[in-house]
Amino acid sequence: MLERLPLNGRRYENMAIDQASLFIATGICCAALGLTMLSAWVHNRADDFLAGWTLGMLLLGAGVLLNYSYPADRLAIVAMAFTLETIGFVVVYLAARQFTGRAASRRTALALLVAVPPVTVPIVFGFDGIGIAVYNLVAGAFLAATGLQYWSVRAEARSSITALTALYVLTALSFFACGTIMLHEGSWVLLRHPDNWAEKFNAIMCIIGITGIGALSLGLNNARAARRHRDEARTDALTGLLNRRALFDGFSRARLDPGHAVIAFDLDHFKAINDRHGHAAGDEVLRRFAMALSQNLRDGDMAARTGGEEFVLVLHHASHQVATSTAERIRAIFADDKVTTAGHTIIATASAGVAFVSGQSESFEAVLHRADKSLYRAKDGGRNRVVTQLQAVA
Ligand code: GH3
Ligand code: MG
Ligand code: MG
Repeated sequence: MLERLPLNGRRYENMAIDQASLFIATGICCAALGLTMLSAWVHNRADDFLAGWTLGMLLLGAGVLLNYSYPADRLAIVAMAFTLETIGFVVVYLAARQFTGRAASRRTALALLVAVPPVTVPIVFGFDGIGIAVYNLVAGAFLAATGLQYWSVRAEARSSITALTALYVLTALSFFACGTIMLHEGSWVLLRHPDNWAEKFNAIMCIIGITGIGALSLGLNNARAARRHRDEARTDALTGLLNRRALFDGFSRARLDPGHAVIAFDLDHFKAINDRHGHAAGDEVLRRFAMALSQNLRDGDMAARTGGEEFVLVLHHASHQVATSTAERIRAIFADDKVTTAGHTIIATASAGVAFVSGQSESFEAVLHRADKSLYRAKDGGRNRVVTQLQAVA
């Protein structure tokens, strides 16, 4: 017969996780996440926000581990630990500002460190209860401010950023709870780790917060990187306009409705400009032409560089007259634009062919083909001119 093993209540009691273990786990989570962010940053140095996050997490992790590795009556160590943690929260907030495109100036960043002395000084003078209570309130305030930073860019990824903000705010609340309880109890000299329900809630919230916030932040950062790569693949590096691929991808399946117009531009005798003034000067001429295009676009119009010195403009809701006068305006602005490089003044011109969609919708390629035919007529006619499809067939 099998003997029933007695349940050992004591063993179960020993297995309950105490507060110190929870906080040590929090510190380890911080450090591990900091290192994960560090490796993400090493692979993509452009994302400064990851560097801020790495530093913030490592400071927080170091502070928490330091605090719980020594007895709480070693006030110099406690002061050091809470200083590291306070700076960690400041850095995490600054990283959030970097993420949202509102990077703080060096002066503002340093000014925020004003939060450190009210935490450190009372601890150093033996009033660890006051210092730690202030620390909790400061941490709560920075976490809430960090959450609000992310919330302000929620349009970028609504569900992830809502979850991220919620985690920051809940973690902030757990710090506020700790601070409020300490102030309420009024024990200014502790010489032990504060131990109450709020501290446990805080430790658990920190673990949930760090892991959740870490995963969401990395996800957001990856989504941003993917978007940036997609944009780069669609953009012409020299001029910043759309490239040929982006233009054809955008219109390959769509048909152009009546009211659309396509203008094909080609710079005149561009090879000669390169030969005479050098490739770099030629590049500058291309950029200037792209500028003339961009400055004459309405919302919803598209401009692309489709080849070396070839550009295409797609206009919507454009009458024959609007399309023709747009092409003529761009031609005239560019012809008047004098590019000076290395002491030489370059006068460059462009020819344009205009095609319209009227009557019924057409494929983009068909309209572009007519614009190209008009462009050839403009070249044949002497260059530096605009020819419309009506003139081209005349
Ligand atoms: P046309 O008036 O008949 O259009 O004559 P063109 O000289 O402009 O035409 P062609 O097609 O003979 O020459 C185009 C030149 O554009 C040749 C090429 O070296 C130059 N080119 C193409 N891409 C670039 C670029 O990115 N930068 C520079 N600087 N030149 C480029
Ligand atoms: Mg050409
Ligand atoms: Mg040309």
